[in-house]
Amino acid sequence: MRAGPAQERSWLPLREELHGIEPYGAPQLDVPVQLNVNENPYGPSPEAAADIAASVGRAATTLNRYPDREFTELREALAAYLNTSGGHGITAEQVWAANGSNEVMLQLLQAFGGPGRTALSFAPTYSMYPEYARDTVTEWVAGRREEDFSLDLGAARALIEERRPSVVLLPSPNNPTGTALPPEAVSMLCEAAAGDGRNGLVVVDEAYGEFRRAGVPSALELLDTHRNLVVTRTMSKAFALAGARVGYLAAAPEICDAIRVVRLPYHLSAVTQATALAALRHAPELLGRVDELRVERDATVDWLRGRGLAVADSDANFALFGTFEDRHAVWQALVERGVLIRETGPAGWLRVSIGTAAEMDAFKQSLIQVMEDHR
Ligand SMILES: *Cc1c(COP(=O)(O)O)cnc(C)c1O
Repeated sequence: MRAGPAQERSWLPLREELHGIEPYGAPQLDVPVQLNVNENPYGPSPEAAADIAASVGRAATTLNRYPDREFTELREALAAYLNTSGGHGITAEQVWAANGSNEVMLQLLQAFGGPGRTALSFAPTYSMYPEYARDTVTEWVAGRREEDFSLDLGAARALIEERRPSVVLLPSPNNPTGTALPPEAVSMLCEAAAGDGRNGLVVVDEAYGEFRRAGVPSALELLDTHRNLVVTRTMSKAFALAGARVGYLAAAPEICDAIRVVRLPYHLSAVTQATALAALRHAPELLGRVDELRVERDATVDWLRGRGLAVADSDANFALFGTFEDRHAVWQALVERGVLIRETGPAGWLRVSIGTAAEMDAFKQSLIQVMEDHR
């Protein structure tokens, strides 16, 4: 499909704020080493793939019917999984799922944002958040993170008290920096967002939760303490299931109930439900590679630092490194060597996803060559 320039759309009755905007997305280039969208480099095992195929095959015989609108079996399976991944006593009523955690977060803003409401985060952060805000006509406010990408809790509280957001969105580990939020920070933000009748929600986006370093807790542990806390997860990263589009959240049952009002009818297809259920049956196998990736991540961070580069501490499956005077030139030179990383984050920084050992070797060898030319 040809992507038409924005001015060709000028005759359309497009919403004012969408004029001249290009669709968001990382370049999808066909190069040998793809380390740009934080995918899991290991595909599902043959056993998991066979179970997914058989499950989808069974679902295919009932596709004349709408799927289970409440996806009860999947919610039970996701709750059971979360209780092995930092959660305690989470029940199916506390779980909601959609086509990727991107859809979950859009639904959250459809239910809890809207005209006259504010959504708030701290930059640098996930570049999709302002888009959900725009699409739901929610005002977008971005505070700043510190130089080391942590949060200044006093400043964060002051901003929340001033702007009174109905939704605070915070990835932990953060994308693109890899920074995890300590539990004290999550608790403080929950209190600040809820306090004084503000009743705001705090959404901790744990898309990379499974990659956190040993000793770094999940915000799932705080669900019982803060009723305004929402923790989102995805099957796209650790579960190696980005192509299936399954994301989910854990929160108070009232929050899940409220989302049911805005979700599209039967939004989670029978094929998606069957796929996710089969993948969850193979969780230990699919997640088995996470430990390897965490080791590779730590080694990559050390290696980059050894080359004299600045690298943000990472609890995710990527590393943000820099800084380069002309990061685009570095990115481009890597592409020319068959290595695709991501030009994102603050000026001068680049992000590399953690791939297989062979892919990381290719990245390192190419970067050594490129750094001789660009600094
Ligand atoms: C990758 C990612 C997601 C996951 O998106 P899906 O829609 O579940 O594929 C969510 N949040 C952040 C910050 C991410 O980087």
